[in-house]
Amino acid sequence: MTLVVEHLAELTGFRDRDLLDVMLVSTLRDLLRPVSVGIYRVVGDARKQHWLTRARIGEHDTAPAADPLWTELDDLPALHDCPERAQCLREERAIERPPAAPGEPVRLHFPIVTEHEAAGVLEVETSAPMPEEQRRTTAGILRIYRNFQSLLDYSERDTLTGLLNRKTFDECFLRLAVEAANNEQARAQGGGRRIANAAFVHLAVIDIDHFKRVNDLHGHLIGDEVLLLLSRQLRACFRFYDHLFRFGGEEFVVLVRCASPQVAPEVFERLRATVAACVFPRVGQVTVSVGMSRLRAGDTPSAAFERADKALYWAKQHGRNRVADFEALVAAGELSEAARTGDVELF
Ligand code: GH3
Ligand code: MG
Ligand code: MG
Repeated sequence: MTLVVEHLAELTGFRDRDLLDVMLVSTLRDLLRPVSVGIYRVVGDARKQHWLTRARIGEHDTAPAADPLWTELDDLPALHDCPERAQCLREERAIERPPAAPGEPVRLHFPIVTEHEAAGVLEVETSAPMPEEQRRTTAGILRIYRNFQSLLDYSERDTLTGLLNRKTFDECFLRLAVEAANNEQARAQGGGRRIANAAFVHLAVIDIDHFKRVNDLHGHLIGDEVLLLLSRQLRACFRFYDHLFRFGGEEFVVLVRCASPQVAPEVFERLRATVAACVFPRVGQVTVSVGMSRLRAGDTPSAAFERADKALYWAKQHGRNRVADFEALVAAGELSEAARTGDVELF
């Protein structure tokens, strides 16, 4: 019992989601001594779903392993490659698979469904069927894990849209900036395909055009509905490893990873066109302007935000419903690199 309590204290001692998954599998490994235990989440859109390994540890491993954050979807197993996991999620109940052949482990799957995280499955491989008592312990620990994730969501997510809130931006930015710098270095030294696939990070600020009019004409509630629908479109436009924030009001920030700097403007252009083509209930057409900038070595969250915001301002001055790329505008002589003076500090 003391061991369980000690593990629970450790499990809930972190506020980092990656670490939380690592702690969960480590805890269950120590408590159950299984052949292996792993957390797998469904990533991709409805037409193309795959399993991402969030954390997995085998009986002889010293530490859990996970798929790299920048994995391409096609490199991951497809949803139907693991039918028991898919069934467990579909039916939202524990599913046991007997050994496929003599000497093979028994596989037990538990669903992990939280409100905002991608749905997932806990998979435990054991050499013999898991005793009832251990199943109940596992299910109980999973409940604590889910409750803890809900608490994290409550403090880190915007209540209307479920996107990350501004508070989490700096930390996320700095983590990505370090990864981007490492990846660019690895790429320069001839790194592998995985790294080359997502080496560049861009920050974009997305602001609804004339949103005040939407509120004035249709009221705040309809305005909020537009924000909610727009946040869904944003989620659909970006990959599972991109990060979306609602920065307050009707302004969104996204950190996007791309294979090359040329891809990013295309991604945002596609988003702009998707929003412009959508008919919002009661409101009709809504457009957005986007300002973007590429992350640089030694960047700070406020410096990168300011560059993207300058580009956004330019887009607003030049007709709205358009994407403005800071670096391209500087190259064209439309904007300068110099920091703005007299502006309000953003962070
Ligand atoms: P612009 O094209 O220049 O961006 O024009 P705009 O009217 O969108 O101007 P701005 O970006 O400054 O808009 C801010 C407006 O957004 C003010 C307010 O009416 C609306 N707004 C801000 N937060 C919320 C919110 O949470 N809900 C709703 N419904 N409206 C909001
Ligand atoms: Mg606006
Ligand atoms: Mg605004």
